[in-house]
Amino acid sequence: MNKIGVLTSGGDAPGMNAAIRSVVRVALHHGLNVVGIRRGYAGLIDGDFYQMNRSSVSDIIQRGGTILLSARCEEFKTPEGRQKALHNMQQEGIEALVVIGGDGSLTGAQKIDKELGIPVIGIPGTIDNDLAGTEITIGCDTAMNTVIDAINKIRDTATSHERTFVIETMGRRCGFLTVMTALAGGADAILIPEMNYDLDDICNKLIKRQEMGRLHNIVLVAEGVGEDFKTNRNLDESPAFFISRLISDKTGQETRVIILGHLQRGGSPTVRDRVLASRMGAKAVELLLAGESNIMIGIEGRELVYHKISEVLSTKKEIDMGLYELGTILS
Ligand code: ADP
Repeated sequence: MNKIGVLTSGGDAPGMNAAIRSVVRVALHHGLNVVGIRRGYAGLIDGDFYQMNRSSVSDIIQRGGTILLSARCEEFKTPEGRQKALHNMQQEGIEALVVIGGDGSLTGAQKIDKELGIPVIGIPGTIDNDLAGTEITIGCDTAMNTVIDAINKIRDTATSHERTFVIETMGRRCGFLTVMTALAGGADAILIPEMNYDLDDICNKLIKRQEMGRLHNIVLVAEGVGEDFKTNRNLDESPAFFISRLISDKTGQETRVIILGHLQRGGSPTVRDRVLASRMGAKAVELLLAGESNIMIGIEGRELVYHKISEVLSTKKEIDMGLYELGTILS
């Protein structure tokens, strides 16, 4: 193998740059050429490539986002789009790929191996931590710290004005980010997609807190909550708004909504994310050199592991419900 490509795709995550840096420098260390592909699969289809060297990845380990840019690309979902990508890779002499992204990007990666015959290794890059096969994904630790920082600030104003704040966190259908930050941020109620909850119970708890003299509340809601309200809420509305209205109606408390949104995707990656990304980037190159393909790297405890991408995608991410229980007991 002489030349590999690297791309970032789908939702960006802090630490993607650290992963790119590691892929490039470890590949160069092994005497490989590295081609950077801009804008994920869109760049494969457009042939938006450039030769990378050591200095292409200088001064990026501390930066959020991705220097390779990211995009969502509908055309890559079609066999015609993927054939264009194959043509471009052949022209450029790209013999293998490292794809850094979330579950959608890994679905695309699988097709690169199976349909186009190009070996591919996936690196899990998403703040949602919604991928099986790894305890944590690149970007999630930074996002959790961003959420905690926001909770701390919101708590200051919530206390001063004796308000209930309903804070919506990202995570798609996975409540990991919400459970961890609710526990670490001392939230008074937690709503995640994995758990049934009774809004009456939550409101009763908030009223009890009020009776005990606690005049502010922090309620954390995962963005994936709300499918179960389909029948009685406007689907375009974020779940936090709906829940806030209900809390306000039932408790009489003054409520405010904060959707943390894309704020959670930005920022300088934490030590944990930089180290994880550096390790995974290196492992991806080593696995390609060892002849592996169609696998995603993960981490379990201190060890890097890897699984078939098909297994990762067909397995639901389990979150530790003990942490949810603990967060509820402590609140
Ligand atoms: P993420 O990787 O963060 O989950 P998306 O779900 O948006 O982000 O997926 C990123 C990109 O991966 C898509 O824009 C598309 O180019 C590619 N992709 C997603 N699903 C498929 C699929 N079924 N077949 C081929 N490519 C796909």
